[in-house]
Formats: sequence, structure tokens, C-alpha cells
Amino acid sequence: MKVFVINSGSSSIKFQLIDTQTRNYIIKGIVERIGEHDSLIRWSLKEGGSYRIEQKIENHKHALDEVFKILLDKEKGAISSLDEIDAVGHRVVHGGEKFKSSVLIDKDVLNSIKEYSILAPLHNPANITGIEAAMELLPNVPQVAVFDTSFHANMPRRAYLYALPYEFYSEKKIRRYGFHGTSHKYITERAIELLGLDINNSKLITCHLGNGASITAVKNGYSVDTSMGLTPLEGLVMGTRSGDMDPAITLFLMETYGYKPEELDKIYNKKSGLLGLSGISNDMRDIMEEMEKGNERAKIAYEVFIYRVKKYIGAYLAVLNGADAIIFTAGIGENNAHIREDICRNLEFFGIKIDKEKNEQANGKEVIISTDDSKVKVLVIPTNEELKIALETENIVENR
Ligand code: AMP
Repeated sequence: MKVFVINSGSSSIKFQLIDTQTRNYIIKGIVERIGEHDSLIRWSLKEGGSYRIEQKIENHKHALDEVFKILLDKEKGAISSLDEIDAVGHRVVHGGEKFKSSVLIDKDVLNSIKEYSILAPLHNPANITGIEAAMELLPNVPQVAVFDTSFHANMPRRAYLYALPYEFYSEKKIRRYGFHGTSHKYITERAIELLGLDINNSKLITCHLGNGASITAVKNGYSVDTSMGLTPLEGLVMGTRSGDMDPAITLFLMETYGYKPEELDKIYNKKSGLLGLSGISNDMRDIMEEMEKGNERAKIAYEVFIYRVKKYIGAYLAVLNGADAIIFTAGIGENNAHIREDICRNLEFFGIKIDKEKNEQANGKEVIISTDDSKVKVLVIPTNEELKIALETENIVENR
């Protein structure tokens, strides 16, 4: 099946046309700066060739219209008719408590996604714009929503409830939801396959360490706890997000310095994390480069990042009563042996031992990086959220 995967942001659309049989993309790209005068479309073909066009793109529908023209281009495109697209898979960030799995999109589903915009005001409206544009341009093609939250939808209440007045949850749905679900689910399934585990008797800790970062305790194939909460701000130290902190800091900053909610939102989400601590960059590569030159602030950012991941691994080992495996993925998790080694250092007590050589060779590939006698296996598995969205979409469409 050929599935067109759309990840629609507020001013960008990432797209891939994926052949689910070969599990490879045919064409992939991004439309950036939608609505501005200097919009840009970049794309590449699996068979070779990378291209770009600069032109003003008015809105998301216009963007998809242009992308479809590109798909059909005889030289720089990938298909000869839009009829070749069997289904469209949409990444949707927030599925609230309702969507515990991926779903075929109809009017009711679309309305529910709109309702959940209150919980993800930056993401869901952008996702909806992409869905509406695709439905208009491909009215006869089934469209499926794949939610970032749904992998975590079966967490027990002891994990998802905040210890706030219960009405905040029962009336306003303030609870922990978790994100990066598509990635955590993908690496869970790959790890179970690679290690030959029985999914119904399995315990994994999945670490998605990219610009956004989260960690999940997975029992018998289900997320039982995860580090992100009501929003993707909670948990690990990220590129520009603070992760866990004392909520009283908010009150202190408002009362003492007069910060307004929108200013704090920007500080916590865009100016904190690695960037905030280091004052250098949100990119871990820059942090490490500066650290090597002796920059103290870079060192601080690195240490806090590593420590937070380690602390969560410890917590989830307690939640799961041990683990069969720990899996690293995403930009940092896949590409940096040094970081994986530092995170796993001094965890021998738990039966975690890294093989230095295997770890160093692992970057970007699916590899077991623990020693043969390590009780807990440690793996690197490159994530592939678009492929997972395509496979989920195929499954929903074939079984409707
Ligand atoms: P992602 O959000 O998964 O695309 O990950 C992006 C982040 O991965 C970047 O911001 C970098 O900090 C990080 N990254 C990519 N390659 C490396 C590397 N070789 N070493 C350390 N960090 C890396």
C-alpha cells in the first residue's frame, strides 16, 4: 500500500509517501514558512535527487496542492496519478482520553480532535489544518489519525494523575497524557522482535532523546508511565524545554518579577533546557563541542541532562521491577555513544553493562550495545515515526 504521511505544523508540513511493502519512503520532504513571502519546499527521492523551490505558499491547502504537483512531476516526482495514493496518515499530537488507538477520520473524529485543541493549542489546530486540506484535495482517499498520546492511553491512574484537587481531573481533564507515543511504540515493537521477547511478558524502558525528549516504562507492550505530562514540557531536560521543576517557581517568578503567563510559557518551552543552562545552544553537538573546549556552562547543561535521564531510568526500573531492555533512540540517543555510556555508567547494580566497542559502532543502526552478560540488554534502535504512521494507517484501512 502507498500511504501519504502528513505531519502538519503551524507553519510547515512534513510529508512522506511510503510503500508499506518495502517499508521505505518513495519521496519525502517539507514545506516551510507557510504563509510567509519566502516559503520553501524541499524534497528528495529514494531513487536519488534532492530539490528545492522557493515560492510564496499562502496556506496549508496551497502547500499540499503544490506538493501533489511535485509528486506528479515526471522528472522530480514519484507517481503518475494521485489515484496511486491508497491512504493518508496524519500525525495528530493530542487524542485526549478518547483515542486509545489510531482511527479512521470522519466528522465526529475531526470534531473531537478540535475539542482537544484546548490541551495542545500549538499542535492540534495545525494538525487539523493539514487534515482538512488533505480531505479536500483527496476526498475519496481514506484518512487516518495517528496520535502521539494513544500509546500512553492505558497508563494506570496512579501514573497519570497529578495530586491536585480531583475535580481538576474529573471536570477539566488535567492529567498526564504523554507524547512521542508513535516513536516509543515503534522502538518497543522493534526491540521485542530483535530480542525475541514474548510481548506479554516483557519489560522495557524506551528513551527518546532528541530535541524533544521523553522516556517510557513499557510493560507487556503497553506504556505504564512516561515522563511527559499534560503537555510535552514535563520530564527530561530538552533542547529548549526545562522538563521537571517545582511548580512554585512559576508563582515566584510571577509575584517577584511580574512575569506574565505567555512570557513564562516562552521561557519554559523555548529558552530553557540545554539552551537555558548553557547559554550556548539547544543542540547537543554544540554543547559537547564547547564542553571539550572547557566551557563550564556547557558542562553544567550536559551533566543535568545526563543526570535526569539516569534518574528516570532508576524510577522506571522500580516501576517495572527490573527490565529486559533499555532502548535509545532519536537524534541524541541514536548518534552519541558517549552520552549513552554516561547515562548507563554506574548502573551495574541493576545489571546494566555497556560494551564500549559495540556502543561506539552502534550510531544510527539497530544494535545491542550491552555486554553478553548484561542482565538488562541495552539497544540502539533508530526511530521511524513516519513508517509507524504508515503501518498504523494501513492496518486501520485494511480492517475497516
Ligand atoms: P531529533 O529531535 O530526534 O531530530 O534530534 C535532534 C537533536 O539530536 C539535535 O538537536 C542534536 O542535539 C542531537 N544530535 C544529533 N546528532 C548528534 C550527535 N552525533 N551527538 C549528539 N547529539 C546529536
